[in-house]
Amino acid sequence: MEYFDPAETWSRDALVHAQGVRLRAIVDRALRSPFYRERLGKTGLSPGDIACAEDVGRLPFTTKDDVRAAYPWGMTAAPREDLVRLHVSSGTTGVPVAVYHTQDDVDAWADLMARCLHMVGIRRGDVFQNIAGYGLFTGGLGIHYGAERLGCLTIPAGTGNTRRQLRLLRDMQVAAIHIIPSYALYLGAMLMDEGVDPRSLPVRIALIGAEPHTEEVRQRIEYLLGVKAYNSYGLSEMNGPGVAFECLAQGGLHVWEDAFLAEIVNPETGEPVPEGEIGELVMTTLIRRGMPLLRYRTRDLTRFLPGLCACGRRHRRIDRILGRVDDMFIVKGCNIYPLQIEQILMSFPEVGETYLIILEQAENMDQIRVQVEIREEHFIEDMRALHGLQRKIAARIRDEILVTPKIELVEPKSLPRAEGKARRVEDRRPALTRP
Ligand code: ADP
Ligand code: ZN
Repeated sequence: MEYFDPAETWSRDALVHAQGVRLRAIVDRALRSPFYRERLGKTGLSPGDIACAEDVGRLPFTTKDDVRAAYPWGMTAAPREDLVRLHVSSGTTGVPVAVYHTQDDVDAWADLMARCLHMVGIRRGDVFQNIAGYGLFTGGLGIHYGAERLGCLTIPAGTGNTRRQLRLLRDMQVAAIHIIPSYALYLGAMLMDEGVDPRSLPVRIALIGAEPHTEEVRQRIEYLLGVKAYNSYGLSEMNGPGVAFECLAQGGLHVWEDAFLAEIVNPETGEPVPEGEIGELVMTTLIRRGMPLLRYRTRDLTRFLPGLCACGRRHRRIDRILGRVDDMFIVKGCNIYPLQIEQILMSFPEVGETYLIILEQAENMDQIRVQVEIREEHFIEDMRALHGLQRKIAARIRDEILVTPKIELVEPKSLPRAEGKARRVEDRRPALTRP
């Protein structure tokens, strides 16, 4: 097996040992920021109290609201003139969050990213097209610098302009792309409309991430584009992409534990969940200088996967992200995540690329209405067949979430689409009655 970085082959012991040493150093570093001076000051903890990785549990949590409140300079731990890069998170769930990097941070991030790309078979000399938004979104520059670090001819294509994307993919013999999963399905469909079979393109590898998606969606992308698709997880607060990434085994995402310390806790109590159970991912940056974050509550739900990965790496794996804690909605007393619905929709071959979950009230009762795009060839079928399909989808969803949704089959390409992260749920219930 070939590795990009010696840290990929570290044993469990070596990883845990390095984490202890780095954790102590990062607590020391964090104390240079006004926020942590105060926060850690209150607990009376000093770097000397951190002897090993497990001592992370003694540190207080940091929340998204903490980072927002510390804006603009409350969390930086390096002199202003050492900061060379600023990113701001997409703001999917509210006010954006600013993150600062020193040159060392930008370099370390590019190394981590290059490691991910190399892990899934991308090599120096391959052409890499980054079909993601540039600008503040970390999936632009973050992936870009990693691909260059690896030695790829890197095309900052951005999103949109399908014809130009196609031309570049063909003319440059692009081997690998990075794209948000919902946009991958959309782009694939648009290429088909142009009379191009995406499977005939030279692309062999797609990195997909930045939004929750199901295994069904991955398989659709692999089939539609004729690629192997690998799950890429990250968040701006931990740099962006390059935090956890799937290897060739496609069985969960390795968290790069030499750079990040991951915990999974009960989102309500903050207590660690038993090994293998689902909870909220909490992360500590172990090497970042510009803006260290200790025990950051990601709000993302996942679990550690048991067992050793066939690829030989001992960095622990997390399961695909099941959604954000905040994505959960409650209807008729049932807790529901959008991905539970997606999983069922995407298992129907008649269903097209996109869907929208609408929460609304009818006669004072909450209800779920799901608008589902149907593929062209099925849309022209007779009413009876369509009604049958509607009923089948509704029944399968009810079995999963215990609430019967109203299913509305809609024409192909009639629902709104995004080139960035897709919006899956629209809550139209009167604000006062929302749980
Ligand atoms: P925002 O939180 O505003 O969307 P980011 O652009 O930093 O800002 O996005 C990070 C978030 O995107 C993560 O916390 C997670 O919810 C989601 N995300 C990123 N990668 C994945 C992935 N591979 N699978 C599921 N969700 C992901
Ligand atoms: Zn592996």
